[in-house]
Amino acid sequence: MSGSVPNMGVQGNLFGPDPKPPKHDGLFADVAFDRSFERTLTGPLTYIVPNDLRDQVRVGQRVSAPLGRTKEEVGFIVGLRTEIEDREYRKIIRIIDAEPLIDDHLLRLTEWMAEYYLCSWGQVLSSVIPTCAANESNPRGKWVYEPNVDLYSENQKLTSAQIKIREVLRQATEPLTLKELLARASIGSSPVDSLVKRGLVIKRQEAKTGTPIEPLDSQPPLLTEDQQAVFAQIRILLNQGGFKPILLRGVTGSGKTEVYLQAIQEVLTKGLQALVLVPEISLTPQTVARFQGRCGETAVLHSNLSPAERGRYWRRVASGEAGVAVGARSAIFAPARKLGLIIVDEEHEGSFKQENTPRYHARDVAVMRARMLKIPVILGSATPSLESWHNAQKGHYQLLEMPRRVLNLPMPKVDLIDLRYQPRPKGEPRALSEPLAHGIHEALKAKGQVLLLLNRRGWAPQVLCPKCGTVVHCNFCDVPMTYHRGENKLRCHHCAFNQNYEIKCNKCATDTMLFRGIGTERLVEELTAKFPGRVIRRMDSDTVRKPGSHQLIQDAFRQGLIDILVGTQMIAKGLDFPNVQLVGVIHADIGLQQPDFRAAERTFQLLAQVAGRAGRKEKNGRVLVQTYQPEHPSIILASKHDFLGFAKYELEHRKLLGYPPFQRMARIVVRGLVDQEAVDFADQIGRMARNAHVQESQNDKSAFRVLGPAPAPVARIENHYRYHIQFQSDSPALLHRILRRLGMVNPPTARLEMIIDVDPQTIL
Ligand code: ADP
Ligand code: ZN
Repeated sequence: MSGSVPNMGVQGNLFGPDPKPPKHDGLFADVAFDRSFERTLTGPLTYIVPNDLRDQVRVGQRVSAPLGRTKEEVGFIVGLRTEIEDREYRKIIRIIDAEPLIDDHLLRLTEWMAEYYLCSWGQVLSSVIPTCAANESNPRGKWVYEPNVDLYSENQKLTSAQIKIREVLRQATEPLTLKELLARASIGSSPVDSLVKRGLVIKRQEAKTGTPIEPLDSQPPLLTEDQQAVFAQIRILLNQGGFKPILLRGVTGSGKTEVYLQAIQEVLTKGLQALVLVPEISLTPQTVARFQGRCGETAVLHSNLSPAERGRYWRRVASGEAGVAVGARSAIFAPARKLGLIIVDEEHEGSFKQENTPRYHARDVAVMRARMLKIPVILGSATPSLESWHNAQKGHYQLLEMPRRVLNLPMPKVDLIDLRYQPRPKGEPRALSEPLAHGIHEALKAKGQVLLLLNRRGWAPQVLCPKCGTVVHCNFCDVPMTYHRGENKLRCHHCAFNQNYEIKCNKCATDTMLFRGIGTERLVEELTAKFPGRVIRRMDSDTVRKPGSHQLIQDAFRQGLIDILVGTQMIAKGLDFPNVQLVGVIHADIGLQQPDFRAAERTFQLLAQVAGRAGRKEKNGRVLVQTYQPEHPSIILASKHDFLGFAKYELEHRKLLGYPPFQRMARIVVRGLVDQEAVDFADQIGRMARNAHVQESQNDKSAFRVLGPAPAPVARIENHYRYHIQFQSDSPALLHRILRRLGMVNPPTARLEMIIDVDPQTIL
């Protein structure tokens, strides 16, 4: 073994023989792999750096090394050292990246994440660092094919397949990718290659994917009184320096974006960078253009980027050429080296939480990043999360408020429509009550646009047999199938399972089925019948599957080409449409039925946010909310735009039950293909948790409780039986100590999986 020459230096002789001379002399690398076993606290593994790699090896690079019985696996170097304990080590095989992919600060941040979210450091690193950041190659788009028209002639000797290809390409309006070409010509790829070789078809790589966005050259408006006051405060905090968490609560339409822009400009003039997190859906070209117009080069990071584009933006941020990075959740890891400010817009948004390992909350990571860098972080929202609000109340965050809308616009008036007292016509169920239908009619007559929120996609959420009462369920999940009429299919909304719709009960063979409930698709049908000649469109995850398609709908709506836009919660988020005269909520209580302690908070936020889409340019915006529970505090208080009232009400409730923000919560989900195995393992974890607490409680008397195990609210997903255990404690440290012990338990069979979710956002 190399590197094992005993270190018998002069120093050793001066002070007598070393008690135990270190066996190794050389360089060692700690390598973190994308494997969950490190959750068991073994941490990164140490390897010998072979002599020929010594002068290339750096912390933050990826390397390949043997792992367990695997010959080669890629991991990140997270540390280099010379002193190590005396045992056998394996060697690094090769270095993958010439340059480190991550700097020391981001390494520390990801290390904290691994510890806090109880996963391995390697899992965090491989999830958050785009490996394409390493490729210096020019960002290029996809390979496409087009006909070489100069060489076209009728009497070329071609096979029938080649003729077909040529014709498909000639008829195509734009160059085709190989996949598109083969699908249209329904042939294999070899005739394509020979055409390319003969020069009859041109194969080239497109310059770049995506359309570049023109920066919007805009002058800052005169700030409103509220904006001025808030900006003055932010400026003071920016100039003071240091970790300054700020909660900016500004009602919908109070002009928060303008405050962000000015704060960023302030940071840029100091030669520093800024990072802005927004929910994916608000990452519109308009927003980006605004940032670019005012803040110069802005890197845009979202989930639809090609790896090459992502890599390019990543490097522009790392080199400092882009002063600002705007993006969704994962943009929190943008490698800005001179970060002066982080902004999290719509900080209450659930989409900031990642629902697979590492299960991090980007807002919380943002606060931690700001704390490590000792810089300010602004969390903005009209309806702050109760966690952030509580932090502000306790003085951990500085609270800044903008209680009024810009241009003296009033908050829109919200009226509740009590569905219990609305006449119910016979026959087909109806989504629109008389007052709502009337409201839509009035708004359209006044040349306004209408937004309708229905948080349920598909045509009907349930299909049932009128004879035996059987509801059609997914074959793999414990949930009813949703009927989608456009494609005449039943779809599971929890997994990919779908089947063609058959008008026949599979239990009793009755050949009429009933559709229960109304989804967005069915609502569009009702509207089309009721408002003939109007342009009605739908925006939900079914209609925005293709990258860029929600942009198309948003643009069409903004340009006034759509009269009525129906959508799920997607339409409620941070969009600024000037001409919305009516916002209608079809069924405000849908979310309240969820078995989740955040149901009331989410309902309040959704209603307050969607209401905030009305009347953003003119004074006559109004909101109509249909509900069966008009006395529910979430609904009443949202209708009065009363965040303070809601926070007070809900916090009292949470305090009573020991829920966040008063106590910390974590959740373990055990899932397995065999029900009994899952039950047994969940029971074992539950017992271990209680035992661990008995032991820990000798030194730490903090409140702690374990609930469960119990079947999860959705007891089976993708054929996996699910059991969950919930933990609450007022000591995050105690909670973590106990979870860490549980994290060391390996499931007895490979058919079982244990998921630890710290600060869970959903408990379904
Ligand atoms: P919020 O995010 O607080 O809901 P936005 O930042 O979207 O609000 O701003 C709402 C609208 O008001 C936008 O159209 C914006 O251009 C406009 N606006 C912002 N500040 C001002 C101002 N000081 N004067 C006039 N219009 C403004
Ligand atoms: Zn399913």
